Amino acid sequence: MMENGGQHKEPRTLYGIAASPGIVIGRVVRVGGAGQGRHRHYRLHAGEVAAEQERFRAAVDQAEQELAAIRDQLQAHCEEPLGIVDSHILMLRDRMLRGRVTEGIASERVNAEWALELALDRVEALFAGIKDSYIRERFRDVEHVAERLFRLLAGEVTDPLAEVGEKVIVMARDFSPEDTIRMRTDRILGFVTEMGGATSHTAIVARSLGIPSVVGLERLTEEVADNTMVVLDGTAGRLHVDPSRDQLEQFREQQRQYRRYTEEVALYAHLSPVTVDGLAVAVNANIEMVSELGVALEYGAGGIGLFRSEYSYIAAAALPDEETLFGVYQRLLAGCAPFPVTIRTLDIGGDKFASAVRWGGEANPAMGLRAIRFSLREQGIFETQLRAILRAGRFGTARLLFPMISSRDEIRRIREIVGRVKEGLRRDGLAFNDGIPMGIMVEVPSAVALADILAQEVDFFSIGTNDLIQYALAIDRVNEYVAHMYDPLHPAVLRMIRQVVDAGHAAGIEVGLCGEMAGDVMCLPLLLGFGIDELSMHPLAIPYVKRMIRQSTIADVRALVETVARCSSSLEIRGHLAAFLPQRYPEEFAGGGGLQRLLRGEGG
Ligand code: PEP
Ligand code: MG
Repeated sequence: MMENGGQHKEPRTLYGIAASPGIVIGRVVRVGGAGQGRHRHYRLHAGEVAAEQERFRAAVDQAEQELAAIRDQLQAHCEEPLGIVDSHILMLRDRMLRGRVTEGIASERVNAEWALELALDRVEALFAGIKDSYIRERFRDVEHVAERLFRLLAGEVTDPLAEVGEKVIVMARDFSPEDTIRMRTDRILGFVTEMGGATSHTAIVARSLGIPSVVGLERLTEEVADNTMVVLDGTAGRLHVDPSRDQLEQFREQQRQYRRYTEEVALYAHLSPVTVDGLAVAVNANIEMVSELGVALEYGAGGIGLFRSEYSYIAAAALPDEETLFGVYQRLLAGCAPFPVTIRTLDIGGDKFASAVRWGGEANPAMGLRAIRFSLREQGIFETQLRAILRAGRFGTARLLFPMISSRDEIRRIREIVGRVKEGLRRDGLAFNDGIPMGIMVEVPSAVALADILAQEVDFFSIGTNDLIQYALAIDRVNEYVAHMYDPLHPAVLRMIRQVVDAGHAAGIEVGLCGEMAGDVMCLPLLLGFGIDELSMHPLAIPYVKRMIRQSTIADVRALVETVARCSSSLEIRGHLAAFLPQRYPEEFAGGGGLQRLLRGEGG
C-alpha cells in the first residue's frame, strides 16, 4: 500500500474514456486551475483603487506576454491550434473581462481577484442563457484565461511543469488548448482529465503525440491529490490510484507485455495490406490536423482517407480566408504525396461548431443544419473552401468528399456550385485541379436506400458508420440510456453496408468506410467479406488491421459474411465471430492473445 501526504490510501480505480492507448506508471501533477489566489477577497480604501487597477493591468500584460510566447514557441511545429491562443489573447483584451474588472475594482472597492470573480460570474450567467451547447461551452475558454490571471495575481508559477524534475502524469479538470500544445514536452508520461470525450481536443492531441491518456474521469481532481502514485491505462480508459505493491508489479508486467505486443505489431505498419490470396485493401488514416500527418504515415497509412476539415474553423476566432485554407491543404497534400488525401468539406453543426458563425439554437442539432446542409445554405463559406481545395489539389493526389448527403438533388446542386467555383478560378487566372474526383459520405439511411442512384452521380462512396449507425438505429450516442444499443454488428447496419458496397461496385465506383468501425478488429473480417475497397481509421489502429488483413483469406471471410447474413440478431452474429476470430487470427484472439487482452482492457 502507498503512503500519500502522510495518509494511508486504499488502492482504487477510476473509470473514464480511453483517449490514447498505452500504460504508464508515475506520479500525478496538477496543471491549470485557479491556484490559491482565487479566494483572496478584501475591500479597498479609496486611495488604493488606482494601485489595484494597475496591479490587475500588469497581470493582464504578463498573461498576454505569456500567451504570445507560447504562440511564438509553437509556431514552427503545431500551427493549427494557434488560432485558439490568439482568441485567448483577444479575450484578455476584451471589455468583457478587462473592462469589467477595472470598473469593478473602482465601483465595488474590492481587490482584483474579487472583481475578477464577480466579472466571471456575470459572464457565466450570460453564457448560461445561450441555448447552443457549443457556445455555452466556450465559457471554458473565458475560464482558462481567468485562471491564468488568478495565478499571476497570486504570484504563482504559471507553468508547474517547469518545476518538475522527473517524468510525470499531468492531471487537470480540462486542459486549455495552450496546455495541450505544450504536451510536446518530454517530461510528460501521460495525461488525465475530468472533462472531455474521445473526440475532444485533448484526446486528439494526445493521440497525435502518442501520449497515453484517459479523459472524462469524473471527480478526478477532488479524489486524486497532487503527487499521488497512479497507473494510467489509456487502452482501457482506467486510472488506478495508490496501487498496492503487488498491483504495481502486475501493472509493470502488463506494461512489458503491452510494449512487446505493440513492438511486434509495429512490424506490420509498413507491409502492404494484402490478404493471403492476394486481394489488396487500402488502409488509410483519419486525421483532423496537418500535424497528425507524420504519425499517420509512421503507423503505415497508405494515404489520408478522411481529412476532417473542421479544425481550421473551430480553432480560430474568425472564419478562415481562402489563403489560410489553401496553405493548410497545400501542406497536407504535399506532405502526404505521392499518397492520396481525401479532404471532406466542412461538417459543422450537430456537435461541432465554429465560433465565428452565429448559431440559432436547434432542438435537435444532429438532424438539423449540419454538414452539407450548412454549406448549401452558407454558400459563401462553401465556395471559399472549395476554391482552396481545388487550388491545393495540384500539389498531390486529392479527392473531394461531401458529408451527410441525403438526396440526388444535393449532389446536383453541389456539382453546379463546383462548376461555378471552377469558372471563377479560371477567370481569376488561378491554377487548380480540374479533374479532382468527387465522392460522398454515405451516412444517412436515405443515401443507403438510394445508393444505386447516387452511385451514378459520383466518383466514390465513403461510408460514415459513426453517423450511419446513429441514424439507422435512432441511437443518440451521448444519451446514457440508449448508448449501449449503439451497435456496429446490428444486422440492419451490416445489411446497409453490404447494400452500399454492392451498389457502388455495380456502378463501377470504389467504396470505402471511414467510421470508427473501420479500425474495429471484431468487424474487420465482415468488412473484408463485403468487398470494401478502402478502410480509413485512427492511425494507431493501422498496424493491427494490416496484420489481420495479411492473415485473412477471401474465401473464408466471404463464407463468414454468408453465415452472418442468415443471422437475425447481433448476439447471434457475435456468437459466430467468437468462433471465427480465434480460429483464423490465433495470435490476436486465441488463448488470451494480445489483442484479446487489449480489448478486455488488461493492457497486455
Ligand atoms: C462518420 O460519421 O462515420 C464519420 C467518419 O464522420 P464524423 O465522425 O466526422 O461525423
Ligand atoms: Mg459523420
